[in-house]
Amino acid sequence: MTSELRHHGDRDLAPGLVDLAVNVRLPRPPEWLRRHLAEHLDELAGYPDATAARAAVAARHHRRVSEVLATAGAAEAFTLLARALRPGIDVRHAVVVHPQFTEPEVALATAGHRVHRVLLRADEGFRFAASTVPEEADLVVIGNPTNPTSVLHPASELRELVRPGRILLVDEAFLDAVPGEPESLAGADLPGLVVVRSLTKTWGLAGLRAGYLVGDESLVARIAEQQPPWSVSSLALTAITACLTPAALGQASELAVRAEHDRGVLVAGLRELGLSVVEPARGPFVLVDTGLDGDRLRRDLRRAGYAVRRGDTFPGLGPRWIRLAVREPEVTAGFLAALRAVLTGSVPPAGGTDLRTVPAGSAGSAGVAPDQAQPGPAGAGGDSVAGGGGSVTLVGAGPGDEGLITVRGRDRLAAADVVVTDRLVPPGLLAELAPRVRIIDVSKVPRGPATSQDRINELLVEHASAGLRVVRLKGGDPYVFGRGMEEAIACAAAGVPVEVVPGVSSAVAVPALAGIPVTHRSRSQGFAVVSAHLPPGDPGSTVDWAALARSGMTIVLLMAVRTLPEVAGALLAAGMDPDTPAASVEHGGTPRQRVLTGPLARIAEVAAEGGLRAPAVTVIGPVAAFAGQRAGQPYSVKSAS
Ligand code: SAH
Repeated sequence: MTSELRHHGDRDLAPGLVDLAVNVRLPRPPEWLRRHLAEHLDELAGYPDATAARAAVAARHHRRVSEVLATAGAAEAFTLLARALRPGIDVRHAVVVHPQFTEPEVALATAGHRVHRVLLRADEGFRFAASTVPEEADLVVIGNPTNPTSVLHPASELRELVRPGRILLVDEAFLDAVPGEPESLAGADLPGLVVVRSLTKTWGLAGLRAGYLVGDESLVARIAEQQPPWSVSSLALTAITACLTPAALGQASELAVRAEHDRGVLVAGLRELGLSVVEPARGPFVLVDTGLDGDRLRRDLRRAGYAVRRGDTFPGLGPRWIRLAVREPEVTAGFLAALRAVLTGSVPPAGGTDLRTVPAGSAGSAGVAPDQAQPGPAGAGGDSVAGGGGSVTLVGAGPGDEGLITVRGRDRLAAADVVVTDRLVPPGLLAELAPRVRIIDVSKVPRGPATSQDRINELLVEHASAGLRVVRLKGGDPYVFGRGMEEAIACAAAGVPVEVVPGVSSAVAVPALAGIPVTHRSRSQGFAVVSAHLPPGDPGSTVDWAALARSGMTIVLLMAVRTLPEVAGALLAAGMDPDTPAASVEHGGTPRQRVLTGPLARIAEVAAEGGLRAPAVTVIGPVAAFAGQRAGQPYSVKSAS
């Protein structure tokens, strides 16, 4: 029995698979937290001291310090509790409310307790009623929100469970992923209550083992007696304190709000595919009744590159159930496309292992493999696609010069009924189009930043739904700072087949057109392409400029005309050599191409004096010394030294 219960989402994973199996939200801890932990590495020499972490927890939940115990994740809390209670003496009738996370039951059974299960029912939406727990129960374990059902139980219902002589363990490991943390009992002063919390899910810290419990003082003291000394490492304690500051709590609640939105995208897509989702779902995961052989479905999804959590190892669930972690909409879109392909019996796309890739051509309602879905010349396959033959192809137009589009991109363009184009697209490409082709220039859509992208998405969906072959033409590559993924998702969500034709990105090509190789065997063994749309220090920026300064790689800046002084300043402040060559290339690939060069310390000045205007790519690194050497002209090694 325990071996089944010991199955967790991490076991459903395999290298290369997109992970919807494990309920950890972030792929890694956020940068600020990683840095904070790194700053505390020296403390590893000493023994851990939980004082500050306990005080932080107490303050957060308005409890006394004596009501708090830091634990090595929620899992340790379950084990300690199970061991603190003597079977047959302190606890005679333990009840675990299922389906739920299985570790509490495993811990109880391992400590010698006989566990009784209360099974919530699917046809009742897995909602909990206190009346279903037998009176003789002197220990009740319940998750809120419950993993895997994602159901959030009313605190009032849980309070009904409180009795003299009964212990109530509420597992709130996922509650910080619910905006506002409603229905929490962490601050409730109730006899026999213990609430378990975890930092793992929200902060990408599963490996650190950081959590805590709060509750009835005497019970907490008994649980604490079971804990080996120094069980919670100093880094885990540091993380607990750091994740409870007002700033961190604010970020957690933002993440929670985002998760709620992202879950909406997933649930809507699943419903559209006719699958039944347990609702209302409140956690960062959803439970799905596939109505099918879940085992087989999981195998097919694996072949399509996706790992999902099996449901059948949760007591009370059968093989039809799967649990899906909520991911960013772009990952969800790819997953839904693969799921659609699997459900319709079409060949799942090979690969599909890139986290960010919507498997080309499989996003549509017909779920066909890429090559069958190509919206080719009239009648050639495109018409067989459900939805009247309409489709959207995101085509990278390349930068500046119409000769830099790919052969496939040009083919798609030639077969288009409608071309939705943008500012940076080389104008010559549009001049080649047949007169029947409708051209919509969305750079002319009025710019209320958020709404204009929504309007573009609508335009694409509307035209494709009308049965037209739509090409969405974008400068450079559609997925390099091009919001191409948002458009792909909007189409996939609307059941419109989407294909992506990659393009030559200005990030690589514009430097090349100015004679700059972004790599060079001895001078630069890598390059980082960075948007400087948000300047260093901007709260929305996720770029670690200091790390870039130290990276030894070529730095390629896009959208950096306005912010160049701040970017150069940040790199210099981080210790980058002021003499590092830099070059700004304006209107790359066009007859107006201009190259301005100078050392890092002066490049912003040079750009300002030269009146540098967008669009421009700025290259920083030894390779920038090659600037001005135009291809086709003899190189002189001297100028590059
Ligand atoms: N998807 C595009 C980038 C879009 S972001 C691509 O892959 O190229 C827009 C930025 O791209 C501009 O601000 C500029 O930094 C860069 N850019 C695009 N075309 C350019 C050109 N012809 N010359 C110089 N920079 C260009």
